[in-house]
Amino acid sequence: MNMEKYVLSKEQMSFIERMKQPFAIYQFLNKRVVTIALSEGFCKLFGYEDRAQAYYDMDNDMYKDAHPEDVARIASVAVRFATEGGRYEVIYRTRKKGTSDYIVVHAMGEHVYTRDGTQLAHVWYTDEGDYAWDSEASGFKLTEALSNALHEQDMISTSHYDLLTGLPNMTYFFELVEAEKADILKRGGQPMLLYIDFSGMKFFNTKYGFVEGDRMLHLFADILKRYFGTENCCHIGADHFAVGTEEEGLEKKLEDVICEWNRACDGKNLPVHVGIYRSSGDKVHASIDLDRAKLACNALKEKYTSCFRYYSRDLSDDLSYRQYIIENVDRAIRENWIKVYLQPIVRAVNGKICDVETLSRWVDPEMGLSSPDRFIPALEEAGLIYKLDLYMVDQVLKTIKTQKEKGFYVVPHSINLSRSDFDSCDIVEEIRKRVDAAGVDRDRITIELTESVIGSDFDFMKKQVERFHELGFPVWMDDFGSGYSSLDVLQSIKFDLIKFNMSFMRKLDTGDDAKVILTELMRMATSLGLDTVCEGVETESQVRFLKEIGCSKLQGYYFNKPMPFETFVKKLRDHTLTGNENPAESDYYESIGRVNLFDLGVITSEEDNAFHNTFDMIPIAVLEVKGDSGRYVRSNRSYQEFLRRLFDIDMQKDNAEFALSPDKNGFAFIAAVKQCCGDSNSIFFDEKMSDGSVVHCFVRRIGTNPVTGSTAAAVAVLSIKEPDESTTYADMARALAADYYNLFVIDMDTNDYTEYSSKVGDEEMSIVRHGKEFFESAKRDTMTRIFEKDRAPFLKLFTKENVIRDLDAQGVFTTTYRLIDTGTPMYVNMKITRLRGGNRIILGISIIDAHMKEKVLYEQP
Ligand code: C2E
Ligand code: CA
Repeated sequence: MNMEKYVLSKEQMSFIERMKQPFAIYQFLNKRVVTIALSEGFCKLFGYEDRAQAYYDMDNDMYKDAHPEDVARIASVAVRFATEGGRYEVIYRTRKKGTSDYIVVHAMGEHVYTRDGTQLAHVWYTDEGDYAWDSEASGFKLTEALSNALHEQDMISTSHYDLLTGLPNMTYFFELVEAEKADILKRGGQPMLLYIDFSGMKFFNTKYGFVEGDRMLHLFADILKRYFGTENCCHIGADHFAVGTEEEGLEKKLEDVICEWNRACDGKNLPVHVGIYRSSGDKVHASIDLDRAKLACNALKEKYTSCFRYYSRDLSDDLSYRQYIIENVDRAIRENWIKVYLQPIVRAVNGKICDVETLSRWVDPEMGLSSPDRFIPALEEAGLIYKLDLYMVDQVLKTIKTQKEKGFYVVPHSINLSRSDFDSCDIVEEIRKRVDAAGVDRDRITIELTESVIGSDFDFMKKQVERFHELGFPVWMDDFGSGYSSLDVLQSIKFDLIKFNMSFMRKLDTGDDAKVILTELMRMATSLGLDTVCEGVETESQVRFLKEIGCSKLQGYYFNKPMPFETFVKKLRDHTLTGNENPAESDYYESIGRVNLFDLGVITSEEDNAFHNTFDMIPIAVLEVKGDSGRYVRSNRSYQEFLRRLFDIDMQKDNAEFALSPDKNGFAFIAAVKQCCGDSNSIFFDEKMSDGSVVHCFVRRIGTNPVTGSTAAAVAVLSIKEPDESTTYADMARALAADYYNLFVIDMDTNDYTEYSSKVGDEEMSIVRHGKEFFESAKRDTMTRIFEKDRAPFLKLFTKENVIRDLDAQGVFTTTYRLIDTGTPMYVNMKITRLRGGNRIILGISIIDAHMKEKVLYEQP
């Protein structure tokens, strides 16, 4: 059989191309259908004005205009006809070029053989009229034939083409690739195989629905067809595609495909990953080449943008490692190669072990120790990690029981779960069963879930977290900040704690930005009512910083590396570990940890400049009192600065402990703390300093430690009044206010007002009333309170517009008139000036009666 494309003679060609009947000649070459000749009638039927375009489309995407539901069927019938002989007959829907309505076409074909033995197919087409769903209305005749054909589709389609995309299916694709590969090599080219995968398809389907998911795959298939030709592409299944092509111009094509893809679907699509394998000339089956392309593609898993990469050797080494792990996981469990390592987590306020994280190790008799970073991804991908994780749960429960038996306090043990645990089994129920059967309290097992576990399938994971919570298991968000952190997740899913990824610690020493970011995140976590852990803590300065910004728990090599259970127990016994926290005290320490050292910033007024210039946040500390001694357990930087400035105490150097015996500085403070730890819950107090300044503070009791009897309280410094300005200034204001008969503060935007009155000699100003529409009510008052002769000029002058005009022009508005409040007319002076902050004015009315009368006296000769 001839393996070259058959060429008709000039005469034959021109004869066919002039034929009025729709007719085509095809050849089956290299496993695919190649177009030899198309008649004029063919072009007319399918709506081609340009014959060259018709040839181009037939060669590259033959079924481009066919109805998507019919493509797989007709393509399969064509291949069957080409390979098995017989007659070709199909009825299908297609669109004329440039229109959107379908017509029904009936195609019939048979094989003819040329003199040199080449097998060609002659195909005749008939236009069966417009296609309409409502067959009766349109008089559509072939309903039955078409529906029979459609019915048959299910049986045939799987043979060669994929229904969804109209691309060759995998078996047929391999045949096509093998043939094409030989051809490329013959031309001196380099055959390439691509494996294409979408990142996050499952998530996409959940978010937009399967129909949208299918639509997206369909669109992608169309792009592939255009760049590589239908017969060089394959829809392997799910969201995986393959392409057989050659090296020349490949990268440029891929860049264009990616670029076009990024713009497709209005951006509602997924990043696409392409693994590339350079096929060797050997007789290696295409499926093996495709496996290597897939390896390269898998290596792009962590990438969240569209990209491609080539296969390399180390990917294969990794593959054999993974293979080994997958094949041996059952044995590893059975023969105790899997070990439980424990890493203590330490509470910042008391330095005690408050939790332990359990981490697995694979101790292989041949390979030696393997770290979870290597074997866990292999097990995850194979969907086998649940075996290891459930085994870990069993082991952890055993270690907890041992600790109980040995009389140690048992702190919660956290276990790490992977995403595929949730797919392989009902992991929530599996864990519950095991924990309950072991007779261990559920709150002793904490579940750690990484961001990536949550991110992939939000609603489902939210439900699982809620189930864990309902059963009484604490759930932590692990590794926060490592990947595509979504603050949404924190808002919508209620975690008990956020664990910050160790990259924050690595970045701390690189500059202030990292500190600012971590501080803000910590502030956010606390505002959301979440506990916090930082992992990867390695140095003392990191510990100091984390305590200062209010991180509640710390984990890292600074305290302990992960250790086998036996070592953990030995260290507890030898007291070479700091000791486990007594669970009875945990609530107490947790409430200490939860005091927000940041958020009180809002209650300082902007006008309090002296205070603001000194402290950028309110100084807050948490202290613990026992008997006659107190100890600061937490404080923010402002508080440390406050102690340094006003009391010359350096908390870093000096011990944070203090005696509760009153001395000249801090008398009110001690009294307040004592009272607060006694029977009051919260107290405001002023502390007079020796220099005459006054510190205004607030203390609130947090709780009492049920074991030690210590009481914890939070203290906040609300304002500091410097001796010269503040005390006298306030007094001055009060004294001056006393001179006024009435004082009003008016909001010029809303016209709301507050009226103050003050009796001479009264220290405090007391509010009389709030009101609305100040200028209106002032007008009303005029009629009853102002001396009759002064009313008209007063009303004329006292308008909002005039007030604003004068304030703008000279900063003050004043007028003098007589009031009749007391029966006899009395001279008063109204004076208005602007207040700082907001669009407010202050209006004062002072009595100048005596002064005016004197004036009148002087003026009268
Ligand atoms: P992870 O949950 O983020 O665990 C913390 C990792 O940081 C551990 O690595 C721990 O040994 C390490 N680490 C702790 N403190 C420090 C420090 O101060 N400096 C440095 N450089 N590293 C520190 P490991 O044990 O290799 O675990 C790696 C990851 O494997 C874990 O990350 C966890 O996600 C996963 N993993 C471990 N055991 C299991 C398991 O039994 N099941 C599942 N599903 N995943 C596990
Ligand atoms: Ca973890």
